Amino acid sequence: MAGLAAAGCTGGTGGTPGQSGPGEQNAPVAETVAVQFAEVDPALVGGVSEGTLSNPGAGVAEVSFPLVAGARNLNLALDLATNRGLRGNAAVAGTDYQQAWTTIGSSPEAVGYLLTTTAVIDGADRIVPMAVWYDTATGRGVAGPGLIKLDAWPDFVEQVLDNRPADADPTLITEAMQAQAAPYGEGPAIGFDSAGDLVVQFGSHVLDEPIMIEAGTASSMLSPFGVDAQASASSPSEFSADAEVDERDRSDSVGGEDNLAAGATGDEQPEVIEIPEGPGGAGGSGEDDEEPSIDVGPRPYPWVGVNCEALECVAMTYDDGPGPRTDEVSLAYLNNGQAVTYFALGNAMQQTPEGASLVAARGMELGSHTVTHEDLRHLSDKRREQEFAQSAALLEEASGRPPLFMRAPFGAVDEEVRKVAKKHDMAIVSWTVDTRDWETKNAGSTLTQASAAKNQAVVLMHDIQDSSVDAAPQVVQGLVDRGVVSVTVGELSDYDWRAGEVYPEGAYGSA
Ligand SMILES: [Zn+2]
Repeated sequence: MAGLAAAGCTGGTGGTPGQSGPGEQNAPVAETVAVQFAEVDPALVGGVSEGTLSNPGAGVAEVSFPLVAGARNLNLALDLATNRGLRGNAAVAGTDYQQAWTTIGSSPEAVGYLLTTTAVIDGADRIVPMAVWYDTATGRGVAGPGLIKLDAWPDFVEQVLDNRPADADPTLITEAMQAQAAPYGEGPAIGFDSAGDLVVQFGSHVLDEPIMIEAGTASSMLSPFGVDAQASASSPSEFSADAEVDERDRSDSVGGEDNLAAGATGDEQPEVIEIPEGPGGAGGSGEDDEEPSIDVGPRPYPWVGVNCEALECVAMTYDDGPGPRTDEVSLAYLNNGQAVTYFALGNAMQQTPEGASLVAARGMELGSHTVTHEDLRHLSDKRREQEFAQSAALLEEASGRPPLFMRAPFGAVDEEVRKVAKKHDMAIVSWTVDTRDWETKNAGSTLTQASAAKNQAVVLMHDIQDSSVDAAPQVVQGLVDRGVVSVTVGELSDYDWRAGEVYPEGAYGSA
């Protein structure tokens, strides 16, 4: 975790701009304190531990992340960010990929983590900070823009530009401010320092130094959750997963449903602001009779994940692997910027030990499909428990964390199965489109079936079927051509995931 502080102030050279300029020595010494996110005691988050994964062959040196016992949706938000970061790295063939984490907020209402990734891309180092906030009232991961009120976004962008370092490029910053927060876009990590000032940190390819907006200026711009997050950074207190509420309003805390819709669709008129001169303005070239103006655009998506409120999203799922050709499936999706979920079988993982590790390093989602593929309803309590526990242990070995989702073999679920799934903190995932690929063993038929997937569909295929591996590139291409996004199950935003519940509701019918 020591690497994080270094990432925050870029080794100290970025924090002392006075050294690079001529003179200007009359500034008060106090102003040279490096801007950085609050350093909150990790132990305030009850039940926290650390998971790690690595796969040097796939360019992943070491990825670490917090695991918070009992807080499955907080863990899900961290998973989404971690996996999306890994996919992004795999897509550009980055090497020596690393992820470290620090705690930047903790309270009964809000938890904040800063995940900082580093990689070598085309011979150059790249540092990308990603802020993952967790709102206990909604049970959702909140991205930086969710800390800011929708209608305050243009003011916020203006403040960011106003407080930029002298040599920063305002166009680059403005572009990044219009994008979704990293790792889903180029947007900055947003959080607070220990005094409650806003801290905005971009990827190193946009801007090295973090930007600070003073708490007094920030206060009128914060969303209701932003106010909670600010307090969790400036006056941190204990978070306990037990304190999570049963009744959730999934949209309200970032400022109401209208906020989400407007931020999601981009229908709003883009706001135009004048670029503030910033600290570097004094030495301008003299063409100052007209201030350049700039389109700000609406607030980017406030949650961690894919904006499936605005986009058509489907979840392609592959069961019973890993098999010898599982990575071919991953690469087919990865090469098109898409994702999948694998429900891995314990027995198959033992036969192909590298398979699940590679899936994890590619940033694809792994769920449990038990160990032996028997009908869980007909097993003894002890055997049923073993199927969950052993499969979770194998997946944790491969990916550094226990699975958050499971699919029952044959879709066979009853009250007893749900009870054990709940105990293991897994949501149960069914399907809405069954390609029957194991029966037809025909790539054309699988393609036709999978192509029928509509918004929020969960499609069932098998990565141990050659015909399904053969069909994968065309399945992905078909989705991309239709403008449909293939997301992981955990990225489907329609669901308020709960352990032991079946999703989509009622999809298993009476089976
Ligand atoms: Zn199966």
